[in-house]
Amino acid sequence: SIPLGFFGGIGSASRNGVLVKGGNYLEALNSLHTVVFDKTGTLTKGIFEVAGVYPQNGFSKDELLKYAAMSEEYSTHPIADSIKKAYGKKVDRSNIDSYEEISGMGIKAKIKGIDIYAGNAKLMNLLNVKYKEEDYIGTTVHIAVGGKYAGVLVISDELKEDAKETVEDLRKMGVKKISMLTGDSENVAKKVGSILNLDKVYAELLPHEKFEKLELLEKEKPPKGKLLFVGDGINDAPVLARADIGAAMGGLGSDAAIEAADIVLMTDEPSKLITAIKIAQKTRRIVW
Ligand code: ADP
Ligand code: MG
Repeated sequence: SIPLGFFGGIGSASRNGVLVKGGNYLEALNSLHTVVFDKTGTLTKGIFEVAGVYPQNGFSKDELLKYAAMSEEYSTHPIADSIKKAYGKKVDRSNIDSYEEISGMGIKAKIKGIDIYAGNAKLMNLLNVKYKEEDYIGTTVHIAVGGKYAGVLVISDELKEDAKETVEDLRKMGVKKISMLTGDSENVAKKVGSILNLDKVYAELLPHEKFEKLELLEKEKPPKGKLLFVGDGINDAPVLARADIGAAMGGLGSDAAIEAADIVLMTDEPSKLITAIKIAQKTRRIVW
């Protein structure tokens, strides 16, 4: 049963932009041990911009961007939006014979009979497409055209303004372990981890691997300490459901994530977690 005072806490949270789906979740916020963040759309804005176009093997910049834009035409991923914006022209959909998303990796499309793949290093390795590794700072989208490597787009994202203070505040509030799970590259993950001073980052994870890592982190903490996971994407829904407390971004977050979450941050600001924890602490003083 839920102590009556928690209803007041839930009301107070909602007036402050945090939807809490039950008093037990508010109570659990008082015993946080581990906080795990998703990266894209959670710690970063998820607003990507194409920062560089690097063709190889005789392809031109224009060709590379066009192939990328055509393969991403039907995708609603933030990466796809940035590529469409950089291309700037309308794509003739009648040229796209087929299109398929490969979860956590990218896109497979058939354009005028040619197989085009657009995605991360994992996708290229899966296809056995060889390319020269370079240390780009940013999310990389590699393009393969008819089995041949055509080059890479480098896409940049930004940290949310309140990401760093949120991590700092969590530590001040006694959270012992703060880490990040992402499908993005090791490079990008390490950079974010060092700026935010995270204890650990896990990169290049497929959706099911995010779930497995979370289960591992659940096992690593003391039984009485709670684990909070914060995410935004469709891919995050199972992880949100599995965590002791799942918090989703309410604005740009996917419906599946919002549905699976116990707490919804209506304004997409991670610092709303701090607001929620403070309300939880106050509510506890009133209840007991
Ligand atoms: P995150 O875990 O950072 O929120 P996702 O699980 O959405 O990211 O995607 C993981 C990775 O898969 C991305 O970083 C990107 O490399 C690749 N990817 C996903 N969707 C696309 C797409 N439409 N085009 C190219 N690459 C993609
Ligand atoms: Mg995300």
